[in-house]
Amino acid sequence: TLPKILISACLLGRPVRYNGSAKPVLHPALRAWQKAGQLVIICPEVAAGFSTPRPPAEITQGQSGPDVLASTARVQDTTGADVTDQFITGAKIALALAQEQNCKFAILTDASPSCGSTHIYDGAFQGQKHPGTGVTTALLRAHGMQVFAETEIDGLVACLSKGRIKN
Ligand code: SF4
Repeated sequence: TLPKILISACLLGRPVRYNGSAKPVLHPALRAWQKAGQLVIICPEVAAGFSTPRPPAEITQGQSGPDVLASTARVQDTTGADVTDQFITGAKIALALAQEQNCKFAILTDASPSCGSTHIYDGAFQGQKHPGTGVTTALLRAHGMQVFAETEIDGLVACLSKGRIKN
């Protein structure tokens, strides 16, 4: 059977981002996977009950997704509201879906406080990024999933073709 891949809804053109936009990615592999029914689509924030648009949120004090899961960091939005619990709920829903659909791989939108996998905003709400992951990415990785950014689709293609040769 073809491997299933969890993917951020905004990368497939769904306008679910905090500002009501999408972040569509055009990549031939993406189209092929979609056609073959391999993509499992999720927006962790919408799944957690956030509306769109919504105030942007960041993991505070220069910390990262694993710190949120360890309860040593919080997620706040620009109104000052603490949205940590909702972000953890979204991550859990994404993990449950990935496990139910047997996804071992994910392509998630980088820099998001949920979906970021290489960089996230640093928590000062000044538009500055630092290395780190979002809450959903942190939870998926803690459960052994491989998470790729939308700029790393070629890396996933290579990873899957290596797997095919081995089998
Ligand atoms: Fe896209 Fe993830 Fe943000 Fe949802 S939570 S809008 S899927 S980056």
